Amino acid sequence: MSYLLDGGTIWTNNGELIEDGRILIENGEIAQAGSSEEIADLPEDEGETIDCSRKLLTPGFVNAHTHLYSTLARGLVLPNYSPENLSEVLTGLWWKLDRKLDREATRTSARIGAIELLKNGVTTVFDHHSSPSHTEGSLQLIEEEVVEKIGLRSSLCYEVTDRNGRGEAQQGIRENLDWLSAVSNRNDDLTSGQFGLHASFTLSSDTLEEVSSYLEDLETGIHIHLAEGREDQDDSLNQYGERVVTRLDNHGLIDEHAILAHGIHLSEPEKDLLADRDPFLVHNPRSNMNNGAGVADVEGLLNRGLSVGLGNDGLGFSMIDEFRATLLLQKLYHGSPSFMGLEDVGRMLFEDNYKLAEDAFGIKLGKLSPGYRADIAVLNYPSPTPITEENFLGHLFFGTSGNNYEVETVFVDGEPVLRDSELVGLNESDIYRDARKVSERLWKRLKGK
Ligand SMILES: [Zn+2]
Repeated sequence: MSYLLDGGTIWTNNGELIEDGRILIENGEIAQAGSSEEIADLPEDEGETIDCSRKLLTPGFVNAHTHLYSTLARGLVLPNYSPENLSEVLTGLWWKLDRKLDREATRTSARIGAIELLKNGVTTVFDHHSSPSHTEGSLQLIEEEVVEKIGLRSSLCYEVTDRNGRGEAQQGIRENLDWLSAVSNRNDDLTSGQFGLHASFTLSSDTLEEVSSYLEDLETGIHIHLAEGREDQDDSLNQYGERVVTRLDNHGLIDEHAILAHGIHLSEPEKDLLADRDPFLVHNPRSNMNNGAGVADVEGLLNRGLSVGLGNDGLGFSMIDEFRATLLLQKLYHGSPSFMGLEDVGRMLFEDNYKLAEDAFGIKLGKLSPGYRADIAVLNYPSPTPITEENFLGHLFFGTSGNNYEVETVFVDGEPVLRDSELVGLNESDIYRDARKVSERLWKRLKGK
């Protein structure tokens, strides 16, 4: 099916902002992008024309690290839960919740998380899953919800950990291998996979070595939490006499395919070693603030030439909000209104995140230009001031919060998945009503009722 997005301001992310522009979508790709005069009308029998006048069009966003399984924790109040550090957040909340996820709760969490990402203009997600009570087949369940029903481009992985014993670590390894095998047979551009690992401090050397041996034959890398809390470094130094990056590197796990979430408590030599290995770092500032985890040296990582993208770590769904939080946190932490520019943080969202997705899915993504996949977000953003190529990031930072904008339409792979802010082909109110019932059952299990 062909579509003509007609009118609107197009942020191409290719050094150009087109006023009163048009985008022609054919066979899942952007066939043409330009001004209204340059691109011909689309005859009715050759496709659909969608009025985008007064709208702002951007490439769909990428979320480089999230946990869809956490979605149903929203509003959950657990008795005697007042964590003092990241370890207590994990033991007091997340490791209790993931244990209580059954197939229904995993499906529902993924479904709601995917919907909310989509409604924030996110078209590609890198998920990190854990459901130790039903590990086998859990990634397939998520794929059915997130990719097949909702239509998000998704890279999935299962969180391998020894925290529940070697047997469950083996189940996690098997689930990653099964999923990666399924992905290689699917031959589509909407699914991909990484090898999920929790974090160094819950992983034995035997498990790391085993995973490393599998990666030799796979065209993917690990997706792991790196030095999110001080606990990760303390454990590695106490047990193995080396810092986390060195430990993982000695197992051959840090390469150009690796996704490393957080990277907060890193020494300067560790950052230098990362720069040598060229992995992908993911910054998640809102989660870091919420957990009191610390502030990553984003500028130091970027200055070393590392790719540093943005994720949400399961907290919030808007990548524009994550972009904003990144800049606010760095300015506050470094005590300067000029610390890091809009362009530095814009690079994370508009260059590095797409680079990650292009590598993972093997397609061209992230520009509204001919030859790129048609993953597009159409925002209703009635700006009171001019939008130009130079000030676009300023509009995102200062203008697109609260009810100042709405994601109206989203295309993934050339097909509309959101129209007029409603899911295409799905009844949102039914889905949310069902989710509340599933949440109540999950919460009862968690509270032992
Ligand atoms: Zn995470």
